[in-house]
Amino acid sequence: MTTTGATHASAMGGHGQEHCPFMPTYGAPPALFVSGEGPWLTDLAGKRYLDFLCGLAVTGLGHAHPEVTEAIASQAATLTHVSNLFANQPAADLAARIDHLLGGGGQLFMCNSGAEANEAALKLARRWGGPGRSTIMATWGGFHGRTMGALAATGQPAKQEPFLPLPEGFRHATYGDVADLERQVDPTTCAVLVEPIQGEGGVVVPPEGYLTELRRLCDERDLLLMIDEVQTGLGRTGDWFGFQHESVQPDVVTMAKALGNGMPIGACWARQDVAGAFTPGDHGTTYGGQPLAAAAALRTIAVLEDMDAPMLARTMGERFRAGLATLPGVAEVRGRGLLLAAELDPSLDAREVARRALDRGVIVNAVTATAIRLAPPFILTTDEIDEGLDLLSAALSDCLARGDAS
Ligand SMILES: *Cc1c(COP(=O)(O)O)cnc(C)c1O
Repeated sequence: MTTTGATHASAMGGHGQEHCPFMPTYGAPPALFVSGEGPWLTDLAGKRYLDFLCGLAVTGLGHAHPEVTEAIASQAATLTHVSNLFANQPAADLAARIDHLLGGGGQLFMCNSGAEANEAALKLARRWGGPGRSTIMATWGGFHGRTMGALAATGQPAKQEPFLPLPEGFRHATYGDVADLERQVDPTTCAVLVEPIQGEGGVVVPPEGYLTELRRLCDERDLLLMIDEVQTGLGRTGDWFGFQHESVQPDVVTMAKALGNGMPIGACWARQDVAGAFTPGDHGTTYGGQPLAAAAALRTIAVLEDMDAPMLARTMGERFRAGLATLPGVAEVRGRGLLLAAELDPSLDAREVARRALDRGVIVNAVTATAIRLAPPFILTTDEIDEGLDLLSAALSDCLARGDAS
């Protein structure tokens, strides 16, 4: 453990000379955490931080949640892997539970991440579309993951360009603009893939009625409406799924992040007649739905249901919004429930604000160059919310003071 700690410390830029064992896909990490409890994280030096980011909208129940920990430990002592050649009870129960949350009548493909959930959706859409109907519509600014197919759907050219050529058959429309999307639909189009709120794109909330209009378009043109709920799903936006803010019924829903409260797991749900386009051998994964991750997810959902996570997201979200709006240097607050971004005064650099916040002991991230994102856990007390907002306020004041001085 000591060796690992020292190596990570060097990866943080501590000593510079030592060999860093990680590929440079992320910048130098500014902290190394050794433990967590509820909304709190502790670093190597013993300093505590309030986690208002949840490892990117993952640990909604906080760290080391006793019930999830118990589910993982007892499943680890019972059965952890059998492959998808065989069934296992936690996966069967989990699939039924997720289907129930989505209104029933669907089937699931289990996997290990958000990108994989979207890959399954993309392959399913093409299988469902059949020969000549392979084009998938997505949106500019959207984010669907880093694997080649998910990256092709991701409407962010800067993330794509170094890796061209990507799979063909993807087109992008302005987010929130159904007319722009409709103009690009042709007889080769089989599906629309969209986030209910663009998370990585900057916590961008579409105009009211956007999904309803997309549903109408998909019905008219016989397209699948596929909703990427990887960041928005499982209560975070104040409904179980972000699309439920409008009364639409999607054909395909993907999820991951919050599903296992930190255990890697993802899922792609589709209405049964759509799911039936897959035949044995079309798609697969060794680990997907393995008992350990499934048991963690099953318990995570049970706890989220017990606490009424969507309701908590709405009420706590109001407190966050009101608090954030009064902080120095915050120009605008956007988002829904507990998925929020604070757009900053143009003189401020969001990355610098996130760094200062970390120094002060609260974790947020720079979702764009000018906005910080908050995806806080459901288990915060009101005192902890206020304490974290005070720390964030101090960090913003630090940055504003520096800006004034220069
Ligand atoms: C994070 C994210 C993904 C990718 O999930 P990974 O688990 O990192 O592969 C896909 N879609 C959305 C909306 C996301 O926020």
